[in-house]
Amino acid sequence: MLRELREIVQRVTASSDLNEAMAELAQQTRQVMLADCCSIYLRREEDPFYLLAATDGLAPEAVGRARIPLGEGIVGLIGEKEELINLADAQHHPSFKYLPEAHEDEFRSFLGAPIIHQRKTLGVLVVQQKQVRLFEEGEESFLVTLAAQLATVIAHAEARGNLSSRNWHGMLRGLAGSPGVAIGKAWVWRPKVELDRVRLRRADDLPVQHQRLEKVLQQVEAELDGMALRFKESPSGESVAVFEVYQYILKDPVFIGLIREEIEHGWTAGSAVKRVCEKQIAQFANMSDLYLRERAADIRDLGQRLLTRLIHEDDGPLALSEPIILVADEISATLIAEIPRNKLMAIVSARGSINSHAAILARAMGIPAVMGIDHSFELLENRLLVVDGYTGELLVEPASSVLKEYRRVIAEEAQMDELFATVRHEASRTLDGVQVSLLLNAGLSADADIAMNDAADGVGLFRTEIPFMMRDRFPSEQEQVHSYRRVLTSYVGKPVCMRTLDVGGDKQLPYFPIVEENPFLGWRGIRLTLDHPEIFLVQLKAMLRASIGLDNLSIMLPMVGSLDEVRVARRLLDRAWREVSAETADEQGIIRYPSLGVMIEVPSLLYQLAELAPLVDFWSVGTNDLTQYLLAVDRNNGRVADIYDSLHPAVLRALQQIIDAARKHARPVSICGELAGDPIGVLVLMAMGYRRFSMNNSNIMRIKYIVRQSRIDELQKLLQEALSHRHVGAFKGIFGRYLEERGLGGLLRSGL
Ligand code: PEP
Ligand code: MG
Repeated sequence: MLRELREIVQRVTASSDLNEAMAELAQQTRQVMLADCCSIYLRREEDPFYLLAATDGLAPEAVGRARIPLGEGIVGLIGEKEELINLADAQHHPSFKYLPEAHEDEFRSFLGAPIIHQRKTLGVLVVQQKQVRLFEEGEESFLVTLAAQLATVIAHAEARGNLSSRNWHGMLRGLAGSPGVAIGKAWVWRPKVELDRVRLRRADDLPVQHQRLEKVLQQVEAELDGMALRFKESPSGESVAVFEVYQYILKDPVFIGLIREEIEHGWTAGSAVKRVCEKQIAQFANMSDLYLRERAADIRDLGQRLLTRLIHEDDGPLALSEPIILVADEISATLIAEIPRNKLMAIVSARGSINSHAAILARAMGIPAVMGIDHSFELLENRLLVVDGYTGELLVEPASSVLKEYRRVIAEEAQMDELFATVRHEASRTLDGVQVSLLLNAGLSADADIAMNDAADGVGLFRTEIPFMMRDRFPSEQEQVHSYRRVLTSYVGKPVCMRTLDVGGDKQLPYFPIVEENPFLGWRGIRLTLDHPEIFLVQLKAMLRASIGLDNLSIMLPMVGSLDEVRVARRLLDRAWREVSAETADEQGIIRYPSLGVMIEVPSLLYQLAELAPLVDFWSVGTNDLTQYLLAVDRNNGRVADIYDSLHPAVLRALQQIIDAARKHARPVSICGELAGDPIGVLVLMAMGYRRFSMNNSNIMRIKYIVRQSRIDELQKLLQEALSHRHVGAFKGIFGRYLEERGLGGLLRSGL
């Protein structure tokens, strides 16, 4: 049956029309199960009934007309009980409801399974037979399996189908790419030239094709320079790094060399660009690392840009008379850059994720973004949208009451932003005079956030993975020195904590693939680097060399689970320090031996804190992984996202235990997971006794504001009260109220 099951699901998935897909499903299921009838009843969220969506066996004219109110009939009962019902003779069941238009009379036996997606019943899948008999166990499990697999397909197809009607209004769900809310008219953008549509052509005028290529390369380079310059002048100078990636590709001799080679093989300049870009896109698209997969989009954008210049003359800048919400299949950083800032209210992209350059740029510019709404947007043109960048929701022409609510949120946000900006240069001190340190988590977005953030007290976590990911081999010591020195010099006089390479898990190096069944429990972080001391030593030496004369470096080890790992890492650091000191002593003086710390993110360390203390200088709690490993919940799996909770009682206990041990053993401790940048999280952590927090730059100001509005003595009382409640909701409610009382209730929308 497995093959049949797969075939049915595949056919339904391939169909672009929901009605067609359902008809196909009914027909196939009836055939495979040798039943006399198969029907699908579906329910839209707002409807109080199930509607016959397709049937093979009942009267075809009843499709789209026969309705079963919720809680009525056997179908209603299945929906209510959320379980399978198997009846030898349905007509004798007390819930049986006769549907005259469906001509159901001749069918006696009945087997129905609910179709449930993300805990919501979308419909009921039914097979019937004329014969009075109970369906067998194998048939039951087949129907249940089919219904479970179809739930996702139907949820998806339903949303897709919805959009094909010009009058449709409602909500589409994507990923929250950049926080904030915007209300405005959709402006649907399509590339002038699409890579896939360009036809390959041969040329016999090689020199002309080479000249055409050189000319557009120069044009596009100049355009990119202009864009980078524009963003350099904007308040968020860091976003300029996004364009550096484009410039890097455009100047990459390998990339350009490949295009020239294709011209040599007799292709036109345009065809050569297409051929090379498509090959590179395919390579990136197959990578398992999300960040690198997103780079396929950069190549596509760059290719289309080159082709537009090769095929058409450019029409000049985009002319927009009023502010718009930019909606497109794929939004690139360059497209955003082409729209004047005062005309761009928000972005909505069918493709891409939170790692897309569009999302990175939107965050840096403070524009709400929703990514990854997998739909075609043709019919959204000019319609009124609400983009909710906190939840990832896109509302199409919502009711006026909903609009009113969102307008209130926007007004409140504007007020709050003004308020937060007022504390930029103030101390991070509570109302009862307790000083805390607010540090920056940097490094993940391709160096996009390493620029000096003067509101931060330094860098609490510099993730070094990106310089390793952006290459086709391990970076040399000199390349690493260059990249680390940039960070250290951005924070002269402030501490910078660099973490050694933490690849494995969901962060893969394209040139060093690790194939594992269970990568988060596998060869990750310190486990990998200790197995490759040659890589680890080069990184340590690069960090030490980069710190010469600056003395603001500390080094931190990721994924430590046992004390021996720390001992071996310490020995390697000693060796790196001795060697670098010996090499440089004459020219540049003594290199300060950096403090060495560990991330506390593997639960085994919780039971070894006393022994760990003398081995290192500081601890930093990675609440992202600590939560994942303590609760056994994959941090990247959307299906279990609602049970991934850093305020779970077990995580709270672990956090309290760590701060108590840190005090007892006199070890400085900070928090560098996402919890530190969470408004409730930071209050809870302050109450426990934590005083050093490291977070993304977008959080620093609002957390500083929260700190300055709080009193530690009050928070300690709240924590006692909150811990006496068993329910997590009540716990959050208590701290949520504390924020609300200080006019900060609006912050609870984001990330909670
Ligand atoms: C953490 O695990 O909390 C952490 C800060 O590290 P990363 O998110 O890079 O795994
Ligand atoms: Mg971690």
